[in-house]
Amino acid sequence: MNGVDATSHTASEARNIFGLTLEELQQTCVDAGLPRFRGEQLFYWMYNRGITDFSECGNLPKALRTALPEMFSLQHPQIVREQKSEDGTRKFLLRLTDKRHIESVLIPAESEENGRPKRLTLCVSTQIGCPLDCKFCATASMKLKRNLTPGEIFGQYMLVQRLTTQHITNLVFMGMGEPLLNYSNVMRAVDILTHEKTGGIAAIHITLSTAGLIDGIRRMADEGRRIKLAISLHATTDALRLKLMPINKKYPLSDLISAAEYYYRKTRRPITWEYILFEGLNDSEDDIRRLQRLTRRIPSKVNIIPFHPIDTAFPEGMPLALFPPSRARIEEFAQRLREMHVTVMLRSSSGKDIDAACGQLAVRQIQSGSA
Ligand code: SF4
Repeated sequence: MNGVDATSHTASEARNIFGLTLEELQQTCVDAGLPRFRGEQLFYWMYNRGITDFSECGNLPKALRTALPEMFSLQHPQIVREQKSEDGTRKFLLRLTDKRHIESVLIPAESEENGRPKRLTLCVSTQIGCPLDCKFCATASMKLKRNLTPGEIFGQYMLVQRLTTQHITNLVFMGMGEPLLNYSNVMRAVDILTHEKTGGIAAIHITLSTAGLIDGIRRMADEGRRIKLAISLHATTDALRLKLMPINKKYPLSDLISAAEYYYRKTRRPITWEYILFEGLNDSEDDIRRLQRLTRRIPSKVNIIPFHPIDTAFPEGMPLALFPPSRARIEEFAQRLREMHVTVMLRSSSGKDIDAACGQLAVRQIQSGSA
């Protein structure tokens, strides 16, 4: 479970293969003079059995197991810290091979009688930092450092899964970063996760959350992976959304709604609209009516998310400081939407006490320049 690279004595020369898809592994083996089927065997050992050393590949000839570290290395992240919330949420700090850090969050939900959660959801990061500058998000303050590789994305799942006796049932791309800005690496990780040989997670249990990059939404619809799509809406007018989410300038609401319709038509997956409530900004009766009109065109649900104040709670250009409404107002808002036949979920604040809730992820070492 530990160790960035079990074959570190040759890591600098050997090509890292952790994060390659099945097809890429098969081709890599052929290029290295090995039979194509060795790629399939390595795929199984790396992603299903989670090996950290080629000597663990039980059905490979001993001579090959000895030779593999000369050709390939297995570089994946390392968990360096774990924090536990009083509600059972666990936040993990992972160190990457270039010494930068990311965070992943494991969220239990719906406890059964024996106390074990029915659903266990892992929230993974896709970038170090994020360039999109949403005004309510702590990750935005880090700016973008770099995209994560497929191995660093899948590695979050593999490492956290090893730390828990229960199977992770759901995975959401809702951690640090905008997944559609790292499209090909995220989709490679999805292909590894959903492959039958991996024993990972089915597409129906994977959700990608986007700030609304419509080119990526349409591309994902065309490629047919059929994972679920969540869109951060957070405002019912372009004027407010532009202030909260600068990306709205490039992708205004009407285009975003059309892209969501396109995604639904192609995949038949209902859309989830994420809506953080801010007191006095987006919680009026007019907002309720507009929200209903915007979301009724396709089967969808609205996730109402409590806002978790961050350091920059009065961002430049905002008419009011960002602040959550009272619990009573949040419930009333949800109820009014239900009366208008909108499917509404009131999300809990899982992990708030350890800064693991929505919009709170930001690696402080990186912010202060020490990583
Ligand atoms: S909310 Fe998401 S897209 Fe917006 S800045 Fe934060 S991580 Fe980036």
